[in-house]
This record gives sequence, C-alpha cells and structure tokens, in this order.
Amino acid sequence: MKYIGAHVSASGGVEFAPINAHEIGANAFALFTKNQRQWVSKPLTEESISLFKENCEKYGFQLEYILPHDSYLINLGHPDEEGLAKSRAAFLDEMQRCEELGLKLLNFHPGSSLNKISVEDCLSLIAESINITLEKTKGVTAVIENTAGQGSNLGSEFWQLKYIIDRVNDKSRVGICLDTCHTYTAGYDIVNEYDKVFDEFEKEVGFNYLRGMHLNDSKKALGSHVDRHDSIGEGLIGKAFFERLMKDPRFDNIPLILETPDESKWAEEIAWLRSVE
Ligand SMILES: [Zn+2]
Ligand SMILES: [Zn+2]
Repeated sequence: MKYIGAHVSASGGVEFAPINAHEIGANAFALFTKNQRQWVSKPLTEESISLFKENCEKYGFQLEYILPHDSYLINLGHPDEEGLAKSRAAFLDEMQRCEELGLKLLNFHPGSSLNKISVEDCLSLIAESINITLEKTKGVTAVIENTAGQGSNLGSEFWQLKYIIDRVNDKSRVGICLDTCHTYTAGYDIVNEYDKVFDEFEKEVGFNYLRGMHLNDSKKALGSHVDRHDSIGEGLIGKAFFERLMKDPRFDNIPLILETPDESKWAEEIAWLRSVE
C-alpha cells in the first residue's frame, strides 16, 4: 500500500498538521515540530501533544507514516567544535520532540563540510552525531535525506549515505529518505535510467534502509546540483517517472511526501498519484 501526503503546515501547533493533511486527502504527512529557522523553540505542551495524537487517530494517520523534518540550521557534520555542539544539542531536542509525539522517524539533511574538512571526516562526524543522539533517545529512527549536493552539502552520492550508515552503531534506527528532485539534480538519471539508478541504490545502500521518499519534480537539470522543487509533472522529471514509482512495490509502506512548491495543488497531486498506483 502507498502512503502519500505532503509536508503540511503546523502553524498554530503540531496538532494542526494532521488536520491539514486530512484536508488534502493524505494518508501520510511531514511536518516541522518546531520553527525550522530558529535554534531554540518552546517545548511542546502536554495539550499540544495529546491533541496531536488525538487528531492523528481521528483522521486515521498511523505514526509510522509521519515523517517529521528537522531544522534547516542543524549541521551534524559541522567542522567547528562550537557549531557541532550547537547542532547536536538542537538535533537531540528534535529527536526528543518526536519521542514525545510518539513519532518513529526524524528526517534530516546529513550536513556540510563547509569546505573546511574532508568529505570522509565530515561523514564520520555525522555518524558520530547520530550515535550520540540515538544513545540518548528511544524508538525514533534517524532518517538521512539524500541531497542535491549544492555547495559543500554532503549526501548527494549513494556511497556517502552508506558511509554514514556503516558507522552508525544501531543499524535498526538509521535509515534513508530519497528525495526525487535531489536524486535527479545530484546526477542520477531516474528519468531515463530508472532501473539502473534504483539497482545502484539497492547495491550501494539497500532498500531495507529506505524509510521514506520526498516526491518532488525538479526545475533544475540532471546533475546541476541545484535544489529547486517543482510541482509533479511540471518539471524536468515529468509524470512518467512518478507513475512508475507509484506502481513499484519497493516504495510500499513508507511515507511518500510531496514538498512541491504550490500547496494549492497538493490535493490534486495526491489524487493523481493515487490514480496511477
Ligand atoms: Zn526533501
Ligand atoms: Zn530539496
């Protein structure tokens, strides 16, 4: 079964996210559990937590198919000690928020070397950050998102994702989220070489680690390393790819999340994805 949704707004409180997701016909969703552009946010209130759980239940969202995203400020591979410590503290807070909400996954961008350290050293720092956080928390899986490889952002190549996983002690609590736009602009030709790309993913990382997908079309070209999402069917990836993905059982039973730029099209996009399933 396919679980499809979008990264919906949680403005006013996390408890509004399931309502917003229900309104677009979703059976999965993503959200920020705090302001994604701030280092520190107020703790979740008891009321907010229980309303969130109530609303998820009311609208039939299973916690396994909710894919929270962490703050954009966090860099778990930060080359400077202070920046790294700040990021690790913020990441722990994000994980604990997920724990409080009963969520099972936390999606994050791996990190950036800022061109100050080697790729391998940065990837090792990211793995260490994950280990530290997993030791202090329970039940939440760290879900590494592949990137477009913009600037010094790591995680655009499959081997880098595996390099991190290899260094995580608890393999049962680390996973991958593939963003279709990022995959494409990172240089993987999912349009013309669908089988080759996903065979490569299976060989280099393994579908057993796939915990979610971000379904985005791309405004930018294959291999451009530029991250600009487009609505499904309006970008360079095109509808045929998404149709194939919807029919592919390797993408069953994980959250498939739209991060497409025009929110007013989400309901329509979800309905279309369902129609080609
Ligand atoms: Zn994404
Ligand atoms: Zn993106």
